[in-house]
Amino acid sequence: MNNSAKICPSCKKPFIRNHTPESYLDENCFDCSFWLKKITMPEEDEKRRVIVAGQHYMMGANTFGPMGFGGIRFAIHFNDGRTVETCNLWCQGEIPERFRAWLPDNARFIPIKKEKMKMCDFFDVEDWMIIGPLSEDLADDEKNRKQNEEDFNQEDDTVV
Ligand SMILES: [Zn+2]
Repeated sequence: MNNSAKICPSCKKPFIRNHTPESYLDENCFDCSFWLKKITMPEEDEKRRVIVAGQHYMMGANTFGPMGFGGIRFAIHFNDGRTVETCNLWCQGEIPERFRAWLPDNARFIPIKKEKMKMCDFFDVEDWMIIGPLSEDLADDEKNRKQNEEDFNQEDDTVV
């Protein structure tokens, strides 16, 4: 681990590389790397990306394992006309202002039929065709980001 502070070429802020090497894109800080990777996401993942009101979400495959939002069902209408239901939606947080131009809203949440308002039961979902990273990857993404936010807040506390 390299503990000397570097300057992020994207946001120009000093940072310390204290996450795993894969967390970083080139010389960027964790936060910028996180969002730059979302901007340069592989095309096949694009259809699983959900951006509503500046919040970034990803639909995971419906597999056994951890489920985003504890398996709560969401109905999503995309600007391209698709309507998808998923029980495995993961939130990556609010897109920072500086990246919004590259990550504009692409969908909205729509009400789901009342009889379907329940936790996921795996075999009753309509996005089986969605292939993508397993929930574990998205869960790690969320965990790393929360950890980074905590680290950042702690650093703030010590500075003040
Ligand atoms: Zn940065």
